[in-house]
Amino acid sequence: MDYEKYRKLLAEKIEDSFTQWGNKKIVNESELYAFLHTLKGTAGTIGLQPLAEFCDAHLEILSPDDEAGIPISSLKNFKKNIRLLANGNEKKRRDLVLPDLSVNHFDQDTFILLIDDDLEFVSFVKELLEQLGAQVLVAMNGTRGIQQFYDMQPNMVMIDLQLPDMTGLDVFEKIRDTASDRHVVSILMSSNHSDEVIGQAYTAGLMDFIRKPFDLNVFLPYLFNRDKLRKAISQSITTDGLTGVGNRKRLDEMLKYCERLTLRSGIPFSVVMIDLDHFKSVNDTYGHHTGDEVLKNFSRIALAEKRETDYIFRYGGEEFAMLISGGKDEAHTFVERLHESFNGVVFEEGDKSFSVTFSAGIAEYEGRLEMLLIEADQALYQAKRTGRNQSVIFDKNQVEVKRKLQVIIIDDDLLIRTMLEEELSGWSLPDIELSVKLFEDGVSFLAADWYDPDTNFIILLDGIMPGMDGLEVLERLKRRPDTNNILVSMMTARTSDQDIKSALWLGADDYMMKPFQKNEILSRIQNLSSRLF
Ligand code: GH3
Ligand code: MG
Ligand code: MG
Repeated sequence: MDYEKYRKLLAEKIEDSFTQWGNKKIVNESELYAFLHTLKGTAGTIGLQPLAEFCDAHLEILSPDDEAGIPISSLKNFKKNIRLLANGNEKKRRDLVLPDLSVNHFDQDTFILLIDDDLEFVSFVKELLEQLGAQVLVAMNGTRGIQQFYDMQPNMVMIDLQLPDMTGLDVFEKIRDTASDRHVVSILMSSNHSDEVIGQAYTAGLMDFIRKPFDLNVFLPYLFNRDKLRKAISQSITTDGLTGVGNRKRLDEMLKYCERLTLRSGIPFSVVMIDLDHFKSVNDTYGHHTGDEVLKNFSRIALAEKRETDYIFRYGGEEFAMLISGGKDEAHTFVERLHESFNGVVFEEGDKSFSVTFSAGIAEYEGRLEMLLIEADQALYQAKRTGRNQSVIFDKNQVEVKRKLQVIIIDDDLLIRTMLEEELSGWSLPDIELSVKLFEDGVSFLAADWYDPDTNFIILLDGIMPGMDGLEVLERLKRRPDTNNILVSMMTARTSDQDIKSALWLGADDYMMKPFQKNEILSRIQNLSSRLF
C-alpha cells in the first residue's frame, strides 16, 4: 500500500487551500476550523501523527462558527509548520505498522458503504479495505448515501458525522430500521469525539463510534471482528426482519426438505420466484418507508393466500421465493390468485394513491434441486421482458434467454481500450451473455444507439478526454430517465483530482485510479456486475 501517494496528495491539497486563502487575503475562523478538522482526520489516518496533533491543538482554540476574519499575513508561521509536518520531518513520522494482512481478510461478501466527503480520507480507506478483500462503495453526501444503501444493500455502513447536506445522524435516522433488520454493521466516524456526540450516536442506534483519525492497528482488528460477528448473526437467523417471512438461508433448508418430501410421497413441488415491478420508482416517488410498507403488505397477502403446505421467503430486496406443494400448473393457479389479491391493494401516501404489480417465474422440481431456482429465475426474467405483471412457467424446450451484460469502455487511449477488451474477452459467465463496446470519445458514445432496457451496463468512463470530458459525459448520462440498469465507473489519473469528487457527486457508482493493474480490473468489473444482477 502506497502511503506516500496519499501523503503527497494531502500536501497538494494543503497547498490548494493556501493558494485560495492567499487570493482572498483573509480567512474566516470557521473556514480555518473546517480546514484543520478535515486535515486532522486524514493526516492521522495516513501516519502523519504530528500533523494531526498540531491540528488538534489549534482546533481547541478556534470556533467552528465564528465568522471573524483572520488576515493571511498573520498565518505565516502556521502555514510553515503545516508544510513542515506534511512534507518534511521524515524521521518524526510514525510509520504505519499494519496488522498481519496475510492472516486477516474479508470475504467477497463483505460490502462496505463509506459515506464521507473527505476525498483523501475516503480514497485511502477504500483502497486499503479493497486490498483486504472487501467491496467498498463511496457516497460523498448523505442523500446519495441513503440511496446507495437501499439500492446496493451493503452489509456495513460507515458514516461521517459532518456531511455537506446533512449530519451523519440524520443519514442513519433514514436507514435505521432496514439497517437493524438486516443486521448491517453501522459506524459513525468523526474527529469530534466528545461524549455528547458518542452518546447521541449510541442513542440513535448506531452500533459503533470510531474516532478520526483512524489508528489502523485498532481500526482493522475492530472491523475484522465486526465482520465475523455479522457473518455469525446472518448464519443464525432464518426470518427476514422486515416482513417476518423466511430468509434465504431458510429457503435453502426448506428446498432440501421439500425434495425429501417429494421423493418420499411422490407429490410434486414447484418454486415460484417473484419480483415486484418497478419497485425502484415506488421508492423514488413515495420514499423508502412506503416501499417497506409495500413489501410488508405483499408478504402479508401471500401468507394469507397460501396453503399450509406452501412456504414464502424473502429472496432479496423486493424479490420473494415461494415453495408450492404441487406441480407447475397448480403453482400457476396459485400465482394468478395472488396477482388478483395483490394488484387490487391501494396504497396511500399523503394525498396520492397507487398500486403495485409483480412478475413471477415458475419451475417444477424434476430431480435436480440445484437447477430449480435458476429455472424459476429464468422464467421470471422472461415474464419481465415480455411485459411484467404476469407469470411464466419455465419451459426447457425454449432457448435459454441469458441476462445480458454489456461493458462499455470510453477512453481516448487506444492502449487502455485494447487492454481492457482483451482482459474482458477472457471472462466467461455461466448464465450471463457478455459483450464489450468501445468508444474513443464521449461525443461518439452519446451519439450512438447503445441503450437497451433489457441489458445491464457497466460503463468505464475516462475522466479526461478531448472534445468532451468524462464528467460532462457522466452528467448527460445521468440525465437519462432510466439509469437503473447502468453502473458507471470513472477512470481517472490522479487520486486527489477534484474530478473524482465531482464524479461521485454527479452519481458515478465507482472509480478506478490509473494506472491500474491488469488483474485488478477484472475483479473490479466482476464486483460491479454482482451489484447489477
Ligand atoms: P423491475 O420491474 O425490472 O423489477 O424494476 P425494479 O425497479 O423493481 O427493479 P430494481 O431491481 O432495479 O430495483 C429494486 C429496488 O428495490 C432497488 C432498491 O432501492 C429497492 N429495495 C431493495 N431493498 C429494499 C428495502 O428493504 N426497502 C425498500 N423500501 N426498498 C428496497
Ligand atoms: Mg429486483
Ligand atoms: Mg423489481
